Order: sequence, then C-alpha cells, then structure tokens
Amino acid sequence: MVNPTVPPSDKIDWDNIGFQYRDINGYAKYTWTPEDGWDQGSLETNPYLSVHMCATGINYGQECFEGLKAFRAKDGRIRVFRPQENAKRMNRSADMASMPEVPEHIFLEGIKKTVEANLEFVPPYGSGGSLYIRPLLFGSGPMIGLSPAPEFTFIVFGVPVGNYYKDGVKPVDALVIEDFDRSAPMGTGGTKLGGNYAPVFKPTDAAKRKGYPITLHLDSKTRTYVDEFSTSNFVGLINKDGKTSFVTPNAQTILRSVTRISLVEIARDLGWEIEERDIAFADIEQGKFDEVAACGTAAVITPVKKIARGDKVYTIGSGEQTEIGQGFDTLYRTYRAIQNGDVEDTKGWMWPAQGF
Ligand SMILES: *Cc1c(COP(=O)(O)O)cnc(C)c1O
Repeated sequence: MVNPTVPPSDKIDWDNIGFQYRDINGYAKYTWTPEDGWDQGSLETNPYLSVHMCATGINYGQECFEGLKAFRAKDGRIRVFRPQENAKRMNRSADMASMPEVPEHIFLEGIKKTVEANLEFVPPYGSGGSLYIRPLLFGSGPMIGLSPAPEFTFIVFGVPVGNYYKDGVKPVDALVIEDFDRSAPMGTGGTKLGGNYAPVFKPTDAAKRKGYPITLHLDSKTRTYVDEFSTSNFVGLINKDGKTSFVTPNAQTILRSVTRISLVEIARDLGWEIEERDIAFADIEQGKFDEVAACGTAAVITPVKKIARGDKVYTIGSGEQTEIGQGFDTLYRTYRAIQNGDVEDTKGWMWPAQGF
C-alpha cells in the first residue's frame, strides 16, 4: 500500500523561495562510535547541535558534505535524483578525511526519513523548485591530538529551494582565478570536504564584485589546463561535420559532479561524441568551443558566454551569446524532464522508483 501523497504546503510562496535556509519539520541524525558503529538514527527538530568544543569537525575540519535534490513529479510523488552516486562520493570524502564509511543503506535511509518528514516542503510539480538535500558527516567527539574523533555524526537535512532559472536561463561571464589554487595535484580537491570551500569565498566574492558570477580554476601545477569552476564542472561542446562532441576534463583534482556524469550519459544516448580529456586553456583562447557551460546540482547547466583571464577576455562561440545554446538546451531539457518525471526514467535514476 502506498501512502497518499502529501501536497505542497499552501503557506509558502513557492515562486519566491529562492535559495536560503529555512526551518522544516525535522532532519535525520545518526551517531557513530568505534564500539558500536552507526546507531539506529533519529529524527531531530532542533537545528542547533550540541557539539563538544573540542570536536575534530570544528577544530580540524574533519567534515564533508553532499548536495542533491528531491523533485515532485507529474504523478505528485517525490523522487530523489541518483542518491546512490552521492553516497559513493561522500564515502570517498570520508575516506580522504579518515572518517567512518556511511553505508549506502544508512545514507538512503537518512534521506528517506528527512524527505518523508517534510513532504509538504517539496515544491509543486512544474514550479522548477525542489527539496535540496544536504547530507553532512563530521567528527563530533572531542580529540585534541591530531587523530580522528571518538565519535562521528551523520546528518541529512533539507531546504526547499526555488527555480534557479525563474527568469530563464541566462549565459554568464566567468573569471579565471589566478591568485589561489583550490586543488593540488595530490590534494583533496576531488572530494567534498568542507575545508575546500571556505578558502574559495574570498576569490569568488572578489570576482562577483567585478561582475563575474562564476570562477574558473586551472590546474595548479602548470596553469595550462582547465580544472573546473568553483562549485561546478566544466563542459565544452564542439560542433563539427554535423556531429556534436561533449568535452569535459576528468582529472583527479576535479570533484566528480553527478550532474556531469549524468549529462555524459544523456549526450551519449543522443549519439554525441564523448571526450573525457584534459582541456588546454589554449583551446578557449583559440575559440575551439561552440558552447561552454558549468554543471552542478544547483542549476544543472549554467551557460558561459565569456571567460576572462587577467586583462584578456575570450568569447565562446561566434559572437556574444544571449541565450543558452542549442546543444546545452537539449541536454538541459532532457535532464529536467527526467527529474520531473515528464519522460520515462529508463536509467532508473530517480529514487525510489515508486516515489515517496
Ligand atoms: C558539488 C560540486 C560540484 C557539482 O557536483 P554535482 O554532484 O553535480 O552537484 C562541482 N564542483 C565542485 C567543486 C563541487 O563541490
């Protein structure tokens, strides 16, 4: 027996919720200790945590996070986009920072508890909004020496978020960050550790003030290859002889975006060429790409019309783009149709299949 679906709350102005924290009904919380492993978990309501001041999460940045979304589909039911991929990625981050593995069944159960407790906070079908889900893992036990905590906490909370493209998809300008490296060749940049993000605030804020909403990082060793944008992966499209190539870097220093690996599959289904390879910045200088975009969970695709580096500005495609290009438009529509349940989910990406 499937429960009746809970409709979206009528107390929220769904067209104007934006992207900001707001209290919901509750969130899932689990605790790990070396003696007992993960506990049964509980549903909590107080957003303030009581954490020891000597917790490794606070002192040493022993922390990682994830971000994914739940959507209300045409049938009214709610499904989460590829949470198994986020579970895998969280465990790569956990391993990097000496934290215990969160088994996939606990990761999924945490999401289930949180979504089921907050069904009315999942925006209406067709609104373009979603329930943004934020899993967190951190050392919560006290440890003053440089070693892992005696206790870890895994939390899954949710935030209803609005349509990223309320006023339509608009191409943006990107700025190459020249005075800061987010990711070292053998470093942590390929994992979603909290500590990777605070140092990026300063260069991205400075870029925003100069009119660049997104920022591009080059490989820190040679500064000749494209790594990724600060919170999204780099994808370039090349049209040649009636065929489209989907080109994207896949280096160790890049965070493996679930959006990117999913777009690769869609592009492959469309019969496009997939090139997962190093991208020389010279390719951008020489105008090799017809379209460029940043891809990530928040916006899926953000088309990039210009990339600035130092005092030079490189235009993508022929002439300044005023709207999303044809290639990315096709990918974006297909992607959103799967998330909204407008087309059959032949890949089994939406979880659970029967919906909440
Ligand atoms: C989270 C993140 C992305 C996007 O990953 P998605 O799984 O597609 O949301 C890309 N780059 C960095 C650095 C990130 O932290």
